[in-house]
Amino acid sequence: MEKKQRTVTKVEDGEKVKKTVKKVAEAEEAVEEKAADKKVKKVETLTKAEEKSKATTLRIVSAILWVVAIAFEVLAILFLFKKLYIPWLPQMWGMIICIVLDLICCVIAAFLWKKASHLDPFKKTNNKVAFFILTQLGAIMAAVCFIPLIILVLASKDKLDKKSKIIVTVVAVVALLIAGLLGADFNPISAEEKAAAEQTLTDEVFWTAFGHKYHIYDDCSSLKNSENLYQGSVTAAIDNGRGELCYFCANRAEKEKSLNLAELNVEEGVE
Ligand SMILES: [Zn+2]
Repeated sequence: MEKKQRTVTKVEDGEKVKKTVKKVAEAEEAVEEKAADKKVKKVETLTKAEEKSKATTLRIVSAILWVVAIAFEVLAILFLFKKLYIPWLPQMWGMIICIVLDLICCVIAAFLWKKASHLDPFKKTNNKVAFFILTQLGAIMAAVCFIPLIILVLASKDKLDKKSKIIVTVVAVVALLIAGLLGADFNPISAEEKAAAEQTLTDEVFWTAFGHKYHIYDDCSSLKNSENLYQGSVTAAIDNGRGELCYFCANRAEKEKSLNLAELNVEEGVE
C-alpha cells in the first residue's frame, strides 16, 4: 500500500492561529447569514383525489381550447378560399388574426395539458408509444393546428396575391414553431417515476421560481444564487412542474443517505 504523505506545519505565532480561527468563524457566519437570507415559501401538498380532479379539469379545458384552435384554423382556411368575407377586413389580415388566435389557444391548451401531466402522470410501463403521444400531445396538436393550413396556403393558386401568400406562410410557420416548442414536454414524468419519488424521498424538497428541477438539499451548489425557494413534499414539487431531481443532489443523496434513486426521474449529468 502506498503511504500517504502528511505535511506538518508548526505554528509558532499564536496570534496568527487566532486570526485564522476568527476568519473561519466569520466566513461560517456569513454563509449562515446568506442561508438565512433565502426566503423559503412552504407549499401545501394536494391529496391524490385533489390531484386527479384538478388534472381532469385541466385536461377538459385543454381539449376545449384545442377544438377552438382548430376552429380558428378552419376560419383561416375559409378566408383563404374566400368563403368567409368581411367587407372591412382584408383577406390576409383575416387569416393572420385567425392564425394568432389559433396560436394563443394552442399554447394555453398545451400549458394546461402539461400541468395535468404532472398532477396525474400517465403510466409508462404498459405502453411506451401511448406515453409518448400523451406527454407530447401539445406538440402533436400544434402540428394539427397549423400544418394543414400551411399546406393549403402553399398549394393554393390565385387565392392570395404573391406577397400576401409569403406573409401568411411565414406567420403560420412561425406560429407552428412557437406552438410546437412550447407544446413539447422536454421533461415528461411517468406515474411510476412519481410514485418512486414519493416513496424514496419522504423529507421535504426545495425548488426555485423557474426551472423544472427539485433539490433534496437547500444548500445545493446550484441554488446558491436563488434568493427565493419553495419548500414542500416531493409530490408538491412535481405537481408544480418540477419533475426532475437535481443531478448534484442525486449524487450527494446516494452517497450521504445511501438512497436508491434508480427508479426516479433524475436530471442527466453534465459531462
Ligand atoms: Zn440540487
